[in-house]
Amino acid sequence: MDGVLNEHTKTIHKHRGEHADQTDVQTICGATAHVTHGRLQVVPIERITEDQTITRCGRCFADADGGGY
Ligand SMILES: [Zn+2]
Repeated sequence: MDGVLNEHTKTIHKHRGEHADQTDVQTICGATAHVTHGRLQVVPIERITEDQTITRCGRCFADADGGGY
């Protein structure tokens, strides 16, 4: 699954849509709609979750708190 990393806040969001499109980065929660695209990076969530400095968005990942994936 693809995620959207906000490099400024060190927060990872879930990407909205079936495929990643670098020209139209949108998240489930919509928090990054107003963020300059230059600060957003589409990355695999599996890779980011190994980085303890990255915070997972509570709204995008609320459904994963119970059992993970
Ligand atoms: Zn989010």
